[in-house]
Amino acid sequence: MSSPWLLLAAPALALFLAQGPDPPRVVEAGPPPSDAIVLFDGTDLSAWRSTGEGPALWTVQDGVMTVNGTGNIETVREFGDCQLHVEWATPGEVRGSGQERGNSGVYLQRRYEIQILDSYENPTYPDGSAGSLYKQYAPLVNASRPPGVWQSYDIVFHAPRFDESGSLIQPATVTVTHNGVLVLDHVEVLGSTTHEGAPVYSAHPLKQPLMLQDHGSPVQFRNIWIREL
Ligand code: MG
Repeated sequence: MSSPWLLLAAPALALFLAQGPDPPRVVEAGPPPSDAIVLFDGTDLSAWRSTGEGPALWTVQDGVMTVNGTGNIETVREFGDCQLHVEWATPGEVRGSGQERGNSGVYLQRRYEIQILDSYENPTYPDGSAGSLYKQYAPLVNASRPPGVWQSYDIVFHAPRFDESGSLIQPATVTVTHNGVLVLDHVEVLGSTTHEGAPVYSAHPLKQPLMLQDHGSPVQFRNIWIREL
């Protein structure tokens, strides 16, 4: 029943629609376990604060939070031994190389960094690639997905113990799976993450905040939860 006029109008309408706004980004993510503490469910940053002064200011949109140059953020709550789930994506629009491409990080207890990096066809020093305990252990394998694709870390962390004088009596250990693949197998943490020089421990309380790094790259996060052990 289409008239000649409609046949002429349809291509113009299709062109108009093609030039419309991008469709909203819909994300799928599995639900957290029933006993997990949800740290980010896509709605707000109420569980977080800036590591400087004041509230966390990362961008929250379409169920995702994005690093935006306002600095590192950390949880309001503090955690010791834990199981942690974090989903992240490095920018789909690739910029820079090596450590400048999609860099962020999950800092256990503000100190011990599980590196986030776009390590998909992006060579860098092995103990600085995605899934490394930064400058301490390279990941066992490179399980990285392409830039812009959601990835996951599942982390089991046991906090270090210090005696009353501040001496280390039990180092921290960490196990990490990256996209379900084991990349750190119960490694012994050597100390706080450092960029140069050997890592060393300095005594801290058993529980500390979890921190996410702003390294100047708009890395995205979603579906972050933690279970205390
Ligand atoms: Mg980093």
